[in-house]
Amino acid sequence: MTTPTTVTERRRLTAIRAAWLFDGTNPNLLPNPTVVLDGRTILSVGSAVPVPDGATVVDLGSATLLPGLVDGHVHLIFDASDDPVSALARRDAAAAFATMTSFARAAARGGVTTVRDLGDRGYLALGLRRAAATDPTLPEILAAGPPITTPGGHCHFLGDEAAGVDGVRAAVRAHAERGVDIIKIMASGGNMTPGSRPEQPQYGLAELRAAADEAHRHNLPITAHAHATQAIVDGLAAGMDSFEHLTFMTADGVDPIPDEVLTALARRAVTVGMTLGLAPVPGAAPPPGMVARRPALIANGRRMLGAGVNMIAGTDAGIAPIKPPDVIRWAIPQFQQLGMTAAEALHACTARAATALGLGHRKGQLRPGYDADILAVDGDPLSDPAALHAIRAVYIRGTALTR
Ligand SMILES: [Zn+2]
Repeated sequence: MTTPTTVTERRRLTAIRAAWLFDGTNPNLLPNPTVVLDGRTILSVGSAVPVPDGATVVDLGSATLLPGLVDGHVHLIFDASDDPVSALARRDAAAAFATMTSFARAAARGGVTTVRDLGDRGYLALGLRRAAATDPTLPEILAAGPPITTPGGHCHFLGDEAAGVDGVRAAVRAHAERGVDIIKIMASGGNMTPGSRPEQPQYGLAELRAAADEAHRHNLPITAHAHATQAIVDGLAAGMDSFEHLTFMTADGVDPIPDEVLTALARRAVTVGMTLGLAPVPGAAPPPGMVARRPALIANGRRMLGAGVNMIAGTDAGIAPIKPPDVIRWAIPQFQQLGMTAAEALHACTARAATALGLGHRKGQLRPGYDADILAVDGDPLSDPAALHAIRAVYIRGTALTR
C-alpha cells in the first residue's frame, strides 16, 4: 500500500460571463465581464478576457453581475407574518431554529448573501452562523444575540433584560462570552412591543456609556436602536459605533435633526442603519403612523446624505409581511428618493455595508480575493431599478443556489 505524500489540490474553476458588471464601488458598469471563481473565492474579474483552460463556463448572456447584497439589520427569528412576536412565542428552540433556517435561505435566494442579525432569542442566530460556515444555501451571518433592553422594555420577550450600570455591563459581558459579533442595545422604545414608546428613551446616558465601554473593552462594536431624539443624543455621547432607525420620532411626528447631531454623525463617521425596504405585499401596509411621518423622515434622510453621513440599509427584515427576508432590494429606490444615484444606492447595500459590518476585506465587492457572493439579474439595475428583482442566479461563496 502506498500513501500519497503530496496532495494536488484540484482547482474548481468556474468562469461566469455576462453583459455587465457592477463591482460594488465603481459607478460605471464593466462591459462583457468574465468573473473566474476558484472554489469559494473570486480569482479574477475582467472585461472580454479569455476563459482559463479547464474552467466550467456559465454564460448568463444579457445579465448584470453584482456583489451579493448585505443587510445590516435583520431578525431571522421573526417570520414576516402579521404577528411574528406571537408566532415566535409558540415555538420552542428547535422550531424557532428551523424557521430561522428557512428565513435565511429565502434571503439568500433573493440575493442577500450577508445578513447581520440584530436580535434573536437564546443566541439561536449563533448556531445558524456556525451552520452557514459549511452550508452554501445560507448567507454569511453576523449576530448580536438577544438585544439588551430594560426590564419590560422593547423586545423584552427576546430574553435579555438588564437594569442599571452594573446590570448592563454584566449583560454585555455575557454576550461577549457567547461570541457575538456586535452588541445591540435598545436605547429607546420600539414599535412592536405593546406598551413600549419609541419616542421615549429607555436607558440613561450612564447606562449607555457603560454598555459602550464594556463592548469596546471586549473589542466588540455596539449599535443602538434609537428612535427618540434624546436616546440618539445620549447614544452619541456614550460612543455608540452605529445607530438603527434614527427616526428622531416624537409622539405625533418627527423632530428635524438637530444641527449638532448631524455634524457629530458625519464627523465621527457613525454608521446609520436606515430602516428602508418596503415590499409590495398585497393586503399589507406600513403602520399609518410611519406613513404619516414619511415626508419628515425623508427630509431628515436627505440632510444626512447631504452632510455625508455613512448610511447603509438595515431593513428590519422579518418584523412584518412588508419585511420579507429579501426586502433589501426594495431599499434601493428609497435610497434614490433621498438623493442617491442608483449606483450609490447599490454601493450602500454592498461595499459600504460590508465595510460597516467589518467584512470590507472579503464581502460586498466583485474583485480578486473576495468571497464569490454574486447576484446576477436580467437587465441593467442602474437604469431600471426593477431589474434587481429579475434574478437569474445567486452564488454563495462560489456555489450556485438552485432556484
Ligand atoms: Zn430590529
